[in-house]
Amino acid sequence: MNTNNSAQLFDEAKTYFPGGVSSPVRAFKSVIGPPLFIKKGKGCFIYDEDDNAFVDYCGSWGPLILGHADERVISAVSAALQNGTSFGTPTKYENILGKLILGNHRYIEKLRFVSSGTEAVMSAIRLARGYTKKNKIIKFEGCYHGHSDSLLVKAGSGLVTLGETSSLGIPPAFANETIVVALDDEEAIREAISKYKNEIACIIIEPVPANNGLLLQRKEYLQFLRTITQENNILLIFDEVISGFRIGFEGAAGYYNIHPDIITFGKIIGGGLPVGAYGARKEIMQYISPDGGVYQAGTLSGNPLSVSAGIAQLTACLSENFYTELERKTKLLANLVNKFTFENNISVNILFLGAIFWISFSDNCIIRRADQIEADKMEKFKYFHYELLRQGIYIGPSGYEVCFVSEAHTDAILTQTAEKICRVLHTIFDNQYVFKD
Ligand SMILES: *Cc1c(COP(=O)(O)O)cnc(C)c1O
Repeated sequence: MNTNNSAQLFDEAKTYFPGGVSSPVRAFKSVIGPPLFIKKGKGCFIYDEDDNAFVDYCGSWGPLILGHADERVISAVSAALQNGTSFGTPTKYENILGKLILGNHRYIEKLRFVSSGTEAVMSAIRLARGYTKKNKIIKFEGCYHGHSDSLLVKAGSGLVTLGETSSLGIPPAFANETIVVALDDEEAIREAISKYKNEIACIIIEPVPANNGLLLQRKEYLQFLRTITQENNILLIFDEVISGFRIGFEGAAGYYNIHPDIITFGKIIGGGLPVGAYGARKEIMQYISPDGGVYQAGTLSGNPLSVSAGIAQLTACLSENFYTELERKTKLLANLVNKFTFENNISVNILFLGAIFWISFSDNCIIRRADQIEADKMEKFKYFHYELLRQGIYIGPSGYEVCFVSEAHTDAILTQTAEKICRVLHTIFDNQYVFKD
């Protein structure tokens, strides 16, 4: 496979940008070869600067549930674009998207649009603190919530400890307000709540943790979090930046039928343009300025292009059988691969929910916590990634990233992908395999 143009562009980019990229995972640090510079996408395909074509399972990391350059989204954005790019005023597009979401989502009553998932989560945390008048938050090892200061915190040693920052540049004082616990551990939550009684504003969780493998949670556990937060005047935040509008229109809240206090959105809600949002019941949302004392603002918030893309995309998501079809397709691919790996004794299997799947390189079939992922088994992932690219399949450049199926992936493409995945697994799990660039 010729990647000369991408390699050259990457060399140039490295002279302008740290690591040559605008977001770290794009740098292909844990896989082989230069990051591919993509020049266009259509449906389930993307094309790089060397004119290689790939079936894409990254989907811009989740937003593109209709596939690339979907006509409905393109024409909505084009129409809005003719009227200008931004006004810094309210527009009727926001009303349309607000009505569309709130009218079809039973778990939120009011919304605020922002410009990214990070911003949505950061604002939701502030809202939880402002509403409860408490400072500490609980988050989980293995969940990602964007890069705001309070959330770039990892577990210290011990069952329930205050976190340690996971980035330079974050004052330890921030980490002192964040308690990090393992997923699927009820005892740890009980202990944290009793240790920091009356100090905890919220528990934030990805109800479908999909940023560190796919760590599917037990419904009983999520229900437990709902009950214990209610009993202790703690808000429960579902970070649905990935799962929102993907695991069904009502996301994980709808799928598990659990009513969190605040939900954050991003990715799909903006149809591939920058947008985020957070929502809650009216009584909580009235704390947001200008109604209330929790300040939060944005020059480009509710941007008419992003919101128009969101309207077009979410309208399509509401069509009959949209989510059951996506789920069926995901299952088609996963079952084909899992049958093959089982029969051939290859310790790889696909875990999936809705239109999200994760190719797990661990022996365990049930993985609920970050520490259950077998890191040493991930060694083979970089060869898997490399060989898959050569077969014309694009997945995220890390074994901890999940894959996404879009409406544009057909049964034929998915079957073909499954066959290619099996072929590549067969190759790299062969003892004779030697990597050749
Ligand atoms: C992607 C993601 C974020 C951050 O969103 P950005 O738009 O990248 O800032 C936050 N939470 C979750 C669960 C995410 O998947």
